[in-house]
Amino acid sequence: MAAAAEPRPARGMANHGIAQVEVDGSGIPSLFTVPPSIVDLLETSSSVLQRDTVEECLPFLNGDEHAGKCNQHGIPRLDKQRHVKFLQKQLGKLPPQMTAADPSRPWFFYWCLAALTLLGEDVTAYSKRLVETVRPIQNESGGFGGGFGQQSHLATTYATVLALMLVGGEGAYDVIDRRAMWKWLCSLKQADGGFQMVVGGEEDVRGAYCASVIISLLGIPLELSPDSPAFVAGHKDLFSGLGEWVGRCQTYEGGVAAIPGIEAHGAYAFCALGCLSILDSPHRSIPKYMNVPQLIAWLSSRQYSPEGGFSGRTNKLVDGCYSHWVGGCWPLIQAALSGPSSSEARSADQQDAYSGSLFSRNGLIRYILCCCQDQTLRGGLRDKPSKYSDAYHTCYVLSGLSSAQHSWTLRASRPSGSTGGADEWDAMPYVEDEQIFNEDDRIGTTHPVYVIPKHKVEAAWEHYASKTGF
Ligand SMILES: [Zn+2]
Repeated sequence: MAAAAEPRPARGMANHGIAQVEVDGSGIPSLFTVPPSIVDLLETSSSVLQRDTVEECLPFLNGDEHAGKCNQHGIPRLDKQRHVKFLQKQLGKLPPQMTAADPSRPWFFYWCLAALTLLGEDVTAYSKRLVETVRPIQNESGGFGGGFGQQSHLATTYATVLALMLVGGEGAYDVIDRRAMWKWLCSLKQADGGFQMVVGGEEDVRGAYCASVIISLLGIPLELSPDSPAFVAGHKDLFSGLGEWVGRCQTYEGGVAAIPGIEAHGAYAFCALGCLSILDSPHRSIPKYMNVPQLIAWLSSRQYSPEGGFSGRTNKLVDGCYSHWVGGCWPLIQAALSGPSSSEARSADQQDAYSGSLFSRNGLIRYILCCCQDQTLRGGLRDKPSKYSDAYHTCYVLSGLSSAQHSWTLRASRPSGSTGGADEWDAMPYVEDEQIFNEDDRIGTTHPVYVIPKHKVEAAWEHYASKTGF
């Protein structure tokens, strides 16, 4: 190990609640303006790639690649118009090289509609077109495949359901066969409490999250059908044993793996926390099934300097999409630590200790705006400067930007021990640090659990609650 550089002297200090972080005059924490203070002298293929990535990002972070188009904090504008055009194009006819992505069509619907919504676009006009496109890909046995004639899969069903909720309206809500969906979900529920992604296929933490979101949004009854593999093993409902199964995916590093016993990964951490926040309020369910201090240590280690973005795994590189997968964990962790803000039972420690941010929001915002915007005419957002934009990264980079620009509070939790009811969440612009982006570049908000706007979640609940039975 060797000291690489002396940090620049701090001109100001910002209180982040957890620790003091030095901030220079530009509003950027100095951690992100100097090379790493400790460098491992043992060269490996990972350390070479990491060094190359820092070198690739620095000209963008320093504003050299933005040709004088930065604000006084050295941050370029969010080019909303170009990104909107890119997303609209992705919802049209795609070129022949996209044929291999055909089974992922529902994902394109979700990524584009969710990102357009975050950019302030009204997507209800897509409703009729979306309903007619997804109707033939719904299987009579329940769920949606990736295209016509394809087997139902939890990932494509999740994406289809969210896309339908985004466009909203009776036609979109009622195209879903909820009875068949219930039957199909029962067939995916396993004896060990988890969910397979597809009948006879892999069981992993994506299944736990996708199934919980679908069950919760659509108001699917929890009762298990007697022919479910889980019923035969003694489970009585779709959620029983699920928290325990998710808890087993936490690894020795503190992060969460796809299945018990393999490597921790940022996207699976989000799936685990999202699932647990559906099973019960996060301040009860997350500490019940996870070692929270270890999880925080692992999540904190995902933010790199000087890049400011998040990596998905230990010794891997920053990538824009983890702005959501890792960035989206923080509001749920914050709620797990602080509990509902309305609760009189909160201790003084809970009131004070976590009032700041658990990660550097300005570090992440700088990475996103400087490194993730595709600067060609194409528009859209990307993994890092050497990559092209795509619909997936555009969606999840914007979702990460939204959670860095806002703070979510668990205002009120559902009653303890209840099987129904919902938590109430509130989003507010985050104002505790110096704002480094232009106010016009603030984007919309997305529910921290369901990753569609809160009012779209509430509209879906209201619609399905009005139904008697299926
Ligand atoms: Zn990525």
